[in-house]
Amino acid sequence: MKQITLGRTGITVPQNGFGALPIQRISKEDAVSLLRKAYEGGMRFFDTARAYSDSEEKLGVAFAGMRDKVFISSKTMAETKEKFRSDLETSLEKLQTDYIDIYQLHCAARCYGEGDELYEALKEAKKQGKIRHIGITAHKIGVAEDIVKSGLYETLQFPFSYLASERDIRLVRDCAAAGMGFIAMKGLSGGLLTDSEACMAFMSEYEALPIWGVQRESELAEWLSFFTKEVRMTDEIRAVIEKDRAELLGEFCRGCGYCMPCTVDIVINQCARMSQMIRRAPSQNWLTEHWQNEMMKIENCIECGICKTRCPYELDIPNLLKKNLKDYKEILAGKPV
Ligand code: SF4
Ligand code: SF4
Repeated sequence: MKQITLGRTGITVPQNGFGALPIQRISKEDAVSLLRKAYEGGMRFFDTARAYSDSEEKLGVAFAGMRDKVFISSKTMAETKEKFRSDLETSLEKLQTDYIDIYQLHCAARCYGEGDELYEALKEAKKQGKIRHIGITAHKIGVAEDIVKSGLYETLQFPFSYLASERDIRLVRDCAAAGMGFIAMKGLSGGLLTDSEACMAFMSEYEALPIWGVQRESELAEWLSFFTKEVRMTDEIRAVIEKDRAELLGEFCRGCGYCMPCTVDIVINQCARMSQMIRRAPSQNWLTEHWQNEMMKIENCIECGICKTRCPYELDIPNLLKKNLKDYKEILAGKPV
């Protein structure tokens, strides 16, 4: 397993990290068991967030008494220094620790710099030893590029998968050149990609630390299998990637849900990518009465535009929904998928 050093933080871990967003959906007992299995299987880097409900608490229980054996990153969506400080205290308490390896500003709308209260709060926390390194997460490429250029952060977390654009790839290279660690979120592109070996082989070509979102033992087993089976890019894997890129590239919904809630209750994070999902999973799962009802809600869209202001990928959501609905209706009428 390739080792990744996160820039000037010096943190060096196997290129196979654990994304702890999905463990908020399972019981504490199951989550703790999953996290320990991840550790026993070789994972050393665990990424969580204040915003992931009880995810931090579950990590705290799983790694109590062995804090120095793992690296933990967390995040805050605070907009003021007071909220930042209270979030950090809560993170420390829930994680049962007196330091966090990397504390990140979560889904930053811009690059916060010297003089901005959030950046000053990060520096203060580092000086106090409550956090070891200063990080940030972003979803918009322009914001991410500003962050790299600023030289103010030790790590950047950004979506990165084999659907990446040339510009995304340049960002990863610029991070490395700037001595900045790159943490890759959404390595499966929000569930659109299903070939874990292809995802891992792609990642192995970059100085990027993927944090795979894990909820089930079967998913964990796939990622842990790469500790014993070396994955390299091959012509066969390249062909899988090229095929998926041809099918999926362009303006697509990553399923993140940041645009929600919708004014008329459309489940945007599923309905805006129905055309892809229905072709990548057993179609019948998406053709149930439940999903037909959810898709038909698209007809109620009043084009208020609120969702568009929240989408980090700046998608034209109302039109994307309409395109998905048209395709869905054609499939219901018998169009082959
Ligand atoms: S524009 Fe349509 S989809 Fe978006 S929030 Fe408004 S009603 Fe919902
Ligand atoms: S439309 Fe945008 S914000 Fe909403 S789920 Fe898709 S990618 Fe996320």
